[in-house]
Amino acid sequence: MHADITGYSGVMARFAEGIRQFRQTEYRGDRELMQQLQQGQKPELLLVGCCDSRVDFSLLAGVHPGEVFTVRNIANLVPPYDYGGGTGQGVRAAIEYGVKMLQVSHVVVFGHAQCGGIKAAIDTAAGDAPASDFIGSWLVLAQDACRQETVDSNGELHQLPVSALKEYSYLVERASVLNSLANLRGYPWVAERVAAGTLTLHGWWFDLQTGDLWVTAPNGDAFMPLDFD
Ligand SMILES: [Zn+2]
Repeated sequence: MHADITGYSGVMARFAEGIRQFRQTEYRGDRELMQQLQQGQKPELLLVGCCDSRVDFSLLAGVHPGEVFTVRNIANLVPPYDYGGGTGQGVRAAIEYGVKMLQVSHVVVFGHAQCGGIKAAIDTAAGDAPASDFIGSWLVLAQDACRQETVDSNGELHQLPVSALKEYSYLVERASVLNSLANLRGYPWVAERVAAGTLTLHGWWFDLQTGDLWVTAPNGDAFMPLDFD
C-alpha cells in the first residue's frame, strides 16, 4: 500500500512536493552526496538553535545534508551540565552525541532578534509569566540573562529595569547566548576538547530586521557585528 501524494493539500502538499523534488535532483541526479551519506554522518558543526520558524540556520547558511548536527529548542538554550530535574535532557543528549561521538569541530549557539522565548523570559522577570505547562519551567534557564547592568555617567553600575529590557531585548538575547556558551564550558568533555584545541565554541546572533550577523570571537565572550564586506 502507498499513500497518495494528492491526498495532501495546502502547506503539506507543498512540503511533500519539496521532498519529491529533492528526491528527483539529489537521488536521481547527482547521487554522489546522498550515497556517501548512507555510510554515516561526519558533520563538523553542532548547532544549538531556536525553534523559531524565521531562523532556520540551514536555509540561512546554505547548509547541505550531512554538514550540521542540529538541536533546536525554545530560545536556543543550553542547560548547565548538572542541571537537575531532567529539564533539557534531550538537549544535553544531543550535545553529548555531537561532541563525543560525532567529534564536531565547532559548536554554534544561534540566537536571534525578536525571540519569543526571550520575550517570555523578560515578561516572567517582570512578574508577568505567561501561563504554560512546560514553557515557563524551560525558560527559567534564561532568567539570569534578564539581569542586565548599565554604567551611568559617574561610572557606577546599575541594574537595568525590566521595562528597559522589553525595549532592548537584544541585550537579553545576546546575554543568554553567552550564558549558554558558559554552560557548555561546564560540560567536562567540551572543556577538554576546547583546551586541546579540537573544539571551538561560537555565539552567533542573527538580526531579523537587517540580516546582520553578530558573532563572538572563537571561544570568546563578547558580541560584535560581522563585517561581510
Ligand atoms: Zn527564538
